[in-house]
Amino acid sequence: MTNPNTKFIFITGGVVSSLGKGLASASIAATLQGRGFKVRLRKLDPYLNVDPGTMSPYQHGEVFVTDDGTEADLDLGHYERFSGVAATKNDSVTTGKIYQRVIDKERHGEYLGATIQVVPHVTNEIKNFILSNLTDEDFVLCEIGGTVGDIEGQPYLEAIRQVAYDLGRDRVMFVHLTLLPFIPTAGELKTKPTQHSVKKLQEYGIQPDMLLCRAQMPIPKNEKKKLALFCNVREENVIAALDVSNIYQVPLAYSKEGMDRAVCRHFGIPDDKPADLSKWEKIIEVIKKPEGEVKIAVVGKYTKLLEAYKSLHEAIKHGAIANHYQVNIKWIDSEKLEHEPAGDYLNDVNAIIVPGGFGQRGTQGKIEAIKYAREHNIPFLGICFGMQMAVIETMRNVCGIKNANTTEFDPDCEPVVGLMTEWDKDGNKEVRHKDGDLGGTMRLGAYPCHLKTGSLAQKVYGTENISERHRHRYEVNMKYEDTLNKGGMIISGKSPDGKLPEIVERPEHPWFMAVQFHPELKSKPFAPHPIFISLIKAVIDNSRLM
Ligand code: GLN
Repeated sequence: MTNPNTKFIFITGGVVSSLGKGLASASIAATLQGRGFKVRLRKLDPYLNVDPGTMSPYQHGEVFVTDDGTEADLDLGHYERFSGVAATKNDSVTTGKIYQRVIDKERHGEYLGATIQVVPHVTNEIKNFILSNLTDEDFVLCEIGGTVGDIEGQPYLEAIRQVAYDLGRDRVMFVHLTLLPFIPTAGELKTKPTQHSVKKLQEYGIQPDMLLCRAQMPIPKNEKKKLALFCNVREENVIAALDVSNIYQVPLAYSKEGMDRAVCRHFGIPDDKPADLSKWEKIIEVIKKPEGEVKIAVVGKYTKLLEAYKSLHEAIKHGAIANHYQVNIKWIDSEKLEHEPAGDYLNDVNAIIVPGGFGQRGTQGKIEAIKYAREHNIPFLGICFGMQMAVIETMRNVCGIKNANTTEFDPDCEPVVGLMTEWDKDGNKEVRHKDGDLGGTMRLGAYPCHLKTGSLAQKVYGTENISERHRHRYEVNMKYEDTLNKGGMIISGKSPDGKLPEIVERPEHPWFMAVQFHPELKSKPFAPHPIFISLIKAVIDNSRLM
């Protein structure tokens, strides 16, 4: 660790899961940035998977990918969107990863004959993760996944207790996020579950310094007093985290309740002027007074759980904010389009997006949606799997190659999309085998891409060289380029060696672009991604013409 004054804020959750610890952590960071501090955010996930890469989106929501190619928890997306700080492989860890490191060391004989135990070997590895790979940060915010009391979470609580012991309490703050349920028959917010949750934390030797209490309504003074007294927390550090209608309001709402002031007070930092949150105020102003609304269909397979498309959802909103519009997203289960005409679902939307995905289920429906967008001149964006499907759609329906498909699930097809076994990474060859491990072996992270002069992509980005984040195992085969061209589709973005197609478009269509990467991962409310800005602008311009 290079800055001896770096302060650590640990965020734990109590009472129930899904309280929004990620958003809360990101919002604390945003308010501290508003006071001029440099922040870094980290996530510690107690589950046993090495990373969420092999989990179904229904288990864990979207898998977020960093520039350096880590598959991480979706909270890292919140962190990046709120702080603008690019996360790295050193900012996300799981119990699986921690144990893997411990066992590797044991096999290498690094423990010199010791018996390997949860305390101290596993806890030391967790502490190591928290304290390493830092530069000159003022604050490091570490969110502990799960809920206090979970068996899996215990080594993490022990590790953060030890960090406070090692560094001293003046460099560490414990923030506990809880829920005050409202009981209508009593007409009251209830504090008891929070009291129990804090007792549990205290059993582990952790005394929270701040309670961030999710509540539907302002917390009456008496209840705050009660929480403060019974939980041993200063009254002004019992902060109401009230429900808000838009997530970008959270930093403003928490700051208004005194959250960042409480952090400053805890660390003895002078609190002479309030945080500058003007950039958040500007975003909220636009959100509150849109000049119009666009309706966008997202045709995917995990539409029952919107967390599965978290970054996409936010990136679409960012594109709308940049155009001073609001967006109404129509989530459509692609399987529906396999039984009923696509028009029944798509005739009332201004644009269609087919997002990333894996496996065969629902693919025919995605192809129907793409066909509808192509034939009806509806602005269309395909992402990753959506790009592969867009190419297959042109091959089948325009070029007449009926058995065009991907070898991901059809080994006997015309392999327009096939398994990537070799590619270039920073001048080195990456090699994969058909029967290799599934975890962490895709083409992951940021790769450069060169854009064709005069293409829509080049106009959208305003440059010819870009870098975007990837997460895929299959790739459109370049040998079909000529056939695609004959079908009205061009490849407008390629890897610098020209071997991998990255972007396709249809020049005759008002706005049709499909990309092999995930632009949604880099979009931020105050730096919306150019593809989403341009898509929504095309929709607005299109509807003005109608
Ligand atoms: N399943 C496809 C592949 O592995 C697309 C992946 C994705 O959409 N992220 O290439």
